[in-house]
Amino acid sequence: MFFDVIIVGAGPGGIFSAYELTQRRPDLKVAVFEAGHPLAKRKCPIDGDKIKACIGCKSCSIMSGFGGAGAFSDGKYNITNDFGGTLYEYIGKTKALELMRYVDDINMAYGGEGTKLYSTAGTKFKKLCMQNDLYLLEASVRHLGTDINYVVLENLYTYLKDKVTFFFNTPVDEVAVCEGGYKVICKTGEFTCKNCIISVGRSGSKWMETVCKIMDIPTKSNRVDIGVRVELPAEIFSHLTDELYESKIVYRTPKYGDKVRTFCMNPRGAVVNENTNGIITVNGHSYADPEKQTENTNFALLVAKHFSEPFKDSNGYGESIARLSNMLGGGVIVQRFGDLIRGQRSTPSRIEEAFLTPTLNATPGDLSLVLTKRILDGIIEMIYALDKVAPGTANDDTLLYGVEVKFYNMEVAVDQRLETKHKGLYVIGDGSGITHSLSHASASGVFVARNIAEE
Ligand SMILES: Cc1cc2nc3c(=O)[nH]c(=O)nc-3n(C[C@H](O)[C@H](O)[C@H](O)COP(=O)(O)OP(=O)(O)OC[C@H]3O[C@@H](n4cnc5c(N)ncnc54)[C@H](O)[C@@H]3O)c2cc1C
Repeated sequence: MFFDVIIVGAGPGGIFSAYELTQRRPDLKVAVFEAGHPLAKRKCPIDGDKIKACIGCKSCSIMSGFGGAGAFSDGKYNITNDFGGTLYEYIGKTKALELMRYVDDINMAYGGEGTKLYSTAGTKFKKLCMQNDLYLLEASVRHLGTDINYVVLENLYTYLKDKVTFFFNTPVDEVAVCEGGYKVICKTGEFTCKNCIISVGRSGSKWMETVCKIMDIPTKSNRVDIGVRVELPAEIFSHLTDELYESKIVYRTPKYGDKVRTFCMNPRGAVVNENTNGIITVNGHSYADPEKQTENTNFALLVAKHFSEPFKDSNGYGESIARLSNMLGGGVIVQRFGDLIRGQRSTPSRIEEAFLTPTLNATPGDLSLVLTKRILDGIIEMIYALDKVAPGTANDDTLLYGVEVKFYNMEVAVDQRLETKHKGLYVIGDGSGITHSLSHASASGVFVARNIAEE
């Protein structure tokens, strides 16, 4: 079976590549291979009742399937070069922003219309943050919400399904150079194409590493972000979240000079488990629908760890810390901030007595037995700094869930067209190590599709 373009992975990167190809070159034969299920069949078995913890499904419905890791996410599309990836280093800042806005237009046309676009432009919080050793990053944030994000994906699939050939539950085992292009090998057979776009995201990171080794494509990696998810009453951050929805605030610890930042803020949202390669970490999301909202706001506090030679396995380091929390708590651990500061573990009764109801059923425990001193010091210092711009953050009852780890894919060597040293083989999205967000991954898909369409 021959295709003009084969896309590996149906996350935002793959979907937007396919979308743009159908728009610009409807004459091309395009196929998408996806390891996970179609959107309608994606269902995590954890129901909090019969199944309380991850049972390690063959294909994790949270991370895999049509929509990729973003399908049940909060659907926050951050239009900015300040965070979410370094796509601008390859394609330029103006182009990157233009493509992120284009993706936003498509999302609006496919069901997102009416959702709110927040912006940091002109906000008084920038000054307030600066006065308290904090730095507010600039961005426009489109908040689709988990529910509308799903509707947009449904509509995009309806548009694409008759124009593109989808192979679901079909992980690609191998990509190899062949005459006139590439051979894509799966359990079900071999397929050839002229151009191949690999967009396998975080869940495909180990596979991507193997592909790079076999095809002799250089890679580099040295970063992992480790921290906790903070949960507190929504009122404490409401002055920030009502105006900005998501505020990315950075703090530099005086002691170590490490950067600690807020990440993935979910006003009136819920804390959730995340399974990465069998390790249970924590994440969060929220719904646009007021009926599904909670009384709490959650966000991550992450410390960026960059390693230098000779250590190369930054993700392995993050995994080991996450494994430690899984070992002690059987999954995610939760601790009250007051307990952490007093050097005592949280117990079920201490959590129950608190004035805050947790949205995730995690094991009460002691995060100081899991996180290293340097990371924990950074998190505690940042909580006290945040307490100055959002009084109440450092309350005893503030909940810390651990651990949250942001793994970074190793960076794949690509040129300014996001093409590898093999002509016609592109690596995009989070799987390239260049993007770490919905908007950047989607924009990279549009960018590569346009390059292919113009050839
Ligand atoms: C719970 C959660 C919440 C998030 N919230 C946000 C948010 O609000 N805003 C934001 O910007 N980002 C968020 N993110 C991150 C965001 O989802 C990712 O940055 C984005 O999905 C990356 O897109 P991608 O297409 O590069 O990869 P992915 O979305 O990871 O998609 C890759 C796809 O490739 C498939 N695949 C992997 N290997 C193979 C293979 N060998 N063969 C075939 N298919 C394969 C996978 O099954 C997957 O479906 C969140 C992530 C999670 C997990």
